[in-house]
Amino acid sequence: MSPESVETAKIITVADGFYVRQAVDNMAWIDMGDYAIVVDALEQQELEADVFDAIASTFDPKRISYVLNTHTHSDHTALNPAFSRRCGAEIVNLHTHHIPRDGRWFEGTRRRAVMLPMGGVHSGHDCIVWVPSDKALFTGDLFGWGLIPRPGALRDDATRRVLDAYALMIEFDPHVVIPGHGPLCSAGELKRWVEYFNHLSHQVRDAVLAGNTDAQIIEQIAPPQDMAHWWRFVQWKHEDSLNKVLDAVRRGALSN
Ligand SMILES: [Zn+2]
Repeated sequence: MSPESVETAKIITVADGFYVRQAVDNMAWIDMGDYAIVVDALEQQELEADVFDAIASTFDPKRISYVLNTHTHSDHTALNPAFSRRCGAEIVNLHTHHIPRDGRWFEGTRRRAVMLPMGGVHSGHDCIVWVPSDKALFTGDLFGWGLIPRPGALRDDATRRVLDAYALMIEFDPHVVIPGHGPLCSAGELKRWVEYFNHLSHQVRDAVLAGNTDAQIIEQIAPPQDMAHWWRFVQWKHEDSLNKVLDAVRRGALSN
């Protein structure tokens, strides 16, 4: 997968009436039947005309009643005001609404979707969105093509929350996974990331116990071959993950 093919915006038809604009930042618009929803709203306000043209080539943007934000980082919300202004859409995220633990359903005559809160994994206000009829899962930034979704230093409780979130996402057995950024994938990549993370933790712990220096450990632990094509993984995500895990192991904060 060449960087250009991933990073140039393209419209992917997930199913009839279900479209993803895939680029560095992803968003989607979905025909629910009697109305439509949008999931996530990009980082650049200047993409407004492009995005509305793309939507208009599939269905009337005025049918959009809700914009669901997987979280409220600025690279997921830039076009929220444009959807409010042009379509009268209601913005739904964990800052604007209380969403019950078992989720808020958006029922349509054609399909339904549920928004589930997953706070404390990537941000304090994460949600995933599951569209059962298409077995499509929006992970927001919980899946980052090899990136540990938790920003900052790892702690045992944060690691537990990340792994619990992955277990839940994998349980849906999604055929289409729409991450917040980069290419789409499926349940296999979610499972592979959990294996990678657990294996990395073990490798680092063993290397620390064996008395290796940080420099030796970073040198020794290479990115797995089968993940070499993962988006931006070899370039920096593996090293970033390794550094975070190493830091946590040295602090005694990765005991599982
Ligand atoms: Zn984010």
